[in-house]
Amino acid sequence: MLWHLLNKRLPTNEHRLIRFMTDSASCPRCTILESFLHALRDCTWVKEVWMGLFGISSHHSFFSEDLLGRISSNMLNSVTIEDVEWSFVFGMALESIWRSRNLFIFKISRITLSVVALKLVLLAVFARPGVDEA
Ligand SMILES: [Zn+2]
Repeated sequence: MLWHLLNKRLPTNEHRLIRFMTDSASCPRCTILESFLHALRDCTWVKEVWMGLFGISSHHSFFSEDLLGRISSNMLNSVTIEDVEWSFVFGMALESIWRSRNLFIFKISRITLSVVALKLVLLAVFARPGVDEA
């Protein structure tokens, strides 16, 4: 997923409409144009994950800055917050948000994004790299 995102090939509905793979560029959750920014950060549903996961408000600078720049920066920097590797949590958040979107579209699961956020917190605490190596 990250490779597709960084190469601007993430198959959002906006991307799929250009390639005649769908008849609508709308977000399946809120009907706004589904760009990669919308799918991974700006959709109201997705904002709940970011706000819940990191305790930020909807007015935080994260929601207005260059997401691709933030991704590159976060994935390359090895920052640890409270013994958790930030790049790991950020990458898992993006992956989980995209997976939740796909499950929603294909009607396999109606998992709420607050559940996704909770799973990410648990993953960050209990399944981070190296936790079983001690
Ligand atoms: Zn949306």
